Amino acid sequence: MKPAISKADAQKRISEFSTKAHFTASEVKKIRRLAMKYKLRLGPLRKRFCKHCFSPLIGKIRINKVYTVITCANCGKMHRFPLKKSVGNV
Ligand SMILES: [Zn+2]
Repeated sequence: MKPAISKADAQKRISEFSTKAHFTASEVKKIRRLAMKYKLRLGPLRKRFCKHCFSPLIGKIRINKVYTVITCANCGKMHRFPLKKSVGNV
């Protein structure tokens, strides 16, 4: 049986992973599982990989009034990230 690691160690592994410039889909799967096991948030790291195929999220980027839409170059699925609301301009 693998020895259990502490929540702080898990957080450390995730923050180390977030500094990497290049990563693979299998590494993303491992980090996601780690975060789910220890109930940790991935934060801005979530926007760096495709949530369908877990490959690095690169591809066509379109911006409309509400969302930034990124189409995954690997699987073709679309990701929508809401733009930040500006105060007093609604
Ligand atoms: Zn994809």
